[in-house]
Amino acid sequence: MVNAQEVDQPAALERLQEPLPPPEWLDDADETAQLMVYLVTASARLHDVNDTGSPPLKNPAELSRKEFQDALFDAVANPIVFSPRGGRPRSQPTTIVKYIGVEEQHTLRDDFHHHAAVKLSHKSRFMPFKLALRQRHGLATHWSTSHQQYWSAARYLTATTEHKPVVDVDRVVWTPEGSPEMNIFEESQEPWQANTWRKRREAALSAPVDPEQPSGKKRRFNKMDFTALVIDQGLWTRDSVMSYVESKGSAEMQTWVNARQRKLKEFIQDAEEWRAAPAAAQAEKETDWQLVERLSLGTCQCGAQGCLWWSLAEQFFHRNAGVDRERLAASLRKVIQFGPGKIAKVPLIVGATNTGKSTVLDPVRAVFGPGAILNKPKIGASCPLSRLAQGKIRFMYFDDYRPVDYAALPKVPAPTIPATLFLAMFCGQPFDVVVSQSFHDGHPEVEWHRGAAMTAKEEGLWEPKADVTREEIRHMQSRVEQFVASFQIPEADFETAPLCKESWCRWILTDSISFANRQGPERPLSSARPPLAPLARPELPIAELAHASGSADGAIWL
Ligand SMILES: [Zn+2]
Repeated sequence: MVNAQEVDQPAALERLQEPLPPPEWLDDADETAQLMVYLVTASARLHDVNDTGSPPLKNPAELSRKEFQDALFDAVANPIVFSPRGGRPRSQPTTIVKYIGVEEQHTLRDDFHHHAAVKLSHKSRFMPFKLALRQRHGLATHWSTSHQQYWSAARYLTATTEHKPVVDVDRVVWTPEGSPEMNIFEESQEPWQANTWRKRREAALSAPVDPEQPSGKKRRFNKMDFTALVIDQGLWTRDSVMSYVESKGSAEMQTWVNARQRKLKEFIQDAEEWRAAPAAAQAEKETDWQLVERLSLGTCQCGAQGCLWWSLAEQFFHRNAGVDRERLAASLRKVIQFGPGKIAKVPLIVGATNTGKSTVLDPVRAVFGPGAILNKPKIGASCPLSRLAQGKIRFMYFDDYRPVDYAALPKVPAPTIPATLFLAMFCGQPFDVVVSQSFHDGHPEVEWHRGAAMTAKEEGLWEPKADVTREEIRHMQSRVEQFVASFQIPEADFETAPLCKESWCRWILTDSISFANRQGPERPLSSARPPLAPLARPELPIAELAHASGSADGAIWL
């Protein structure tokens, strides 16, 4: 008789001797990749039997989390670089800016290992750090290059999944002194991306059917899917949405969209806000001038060697002696920093057609983004400035604008931008904005304290027209700082310039500083006159007033 145990034992033993499947973390390690995020693992599984080098290989199980962290920090601080050509050392050494360290052993058979999710200060290859861990600390490590963003590596170590039912909650979490503490939950979330969201929904079409789930439980098309579709496909109008869904959408999408046809406009606007939110949040943290300063540090799309826009702008300034490039830059800087008013006027470039005057200002569209630029309204528009009421406009750019025409036309019912409105807008005083009555109640009052600039054809620009008086025209003229361009570029030589926002900002920054230096130190750019000191008010003649009201204790003041 054969004992059942005796039969099973060799089979169980055999199973124990079967090689383990490779662990998840043992994935791509591309030595040529230059990354900021690595998932580093120290495991005895990585020990090479032929590696008899010094120091001898250490069993990671003998290391505490802290000891592994110290070894890794030391390796990053002291990388081992083999450079046959004796390459130039980095001007700025790479440091660790985020660190999560865990120790794991999933089953008794599984080997013990340390993991670390590391974010570096610069994009770097991992080999110099890996070598330093081996040669300075006797640790064999794997550097995974498959986590492109930190959230992914952080999530791998801290979130439980079907494959990884338990994670190490006694992990080491480190950020540099002075920087905010790391929130593991926030750190391990994937940022929302329209494209990823859409692809995930589309992939569900081919996902295997779960026999445990009734078919009705399949994830339905929802508003988030709609948002992703609008953003990813650029379907910014009702017609484009309907047309796409009719021809390319699933029956479910068609039903969903059809049932909400009246709401589509609102949903498209929601999608626009959803998309713009990160930029809007950034804008809330940064003044317009801080944005210009930040962009001025960057390199434009033309590349580091030079900029096509700057070449055309330079040519423009060279040909038009009437436009002082430093004064124009200073004028733009002032109006961006302070808004039009006592300190700043609105820069206005005038000239004939084809002088390239718009070329000089156009990049402002890219600086603030199309959603934050107010273009000149159409003459006769019923709500010409309504976008100002939404609070998202950062710059008014009136290209080819004629203040007198707008103050004169149309006669009935009223001119588009009357002289009084022009003056209030560009003096920093409150003015009413007409908005569509179906969206708002009444006419919100706004004040403009941000940037503005104009271009205009010179001929007859300030000639009186209709009811606009010479007096009003003089006042309007006093709100602008005029720069005259006279050189007409031959039609054949006219080139369209790229909207290089970084180069534009660099020009504003550097030339406004040159202009300020030209003015001498007694007139700093930041303030046109010394701040007003508070002055004591005249004393109230309390005794006399009290006497007059028949009260001796001054109670009239209460
Ligand atoms: Zn450029």
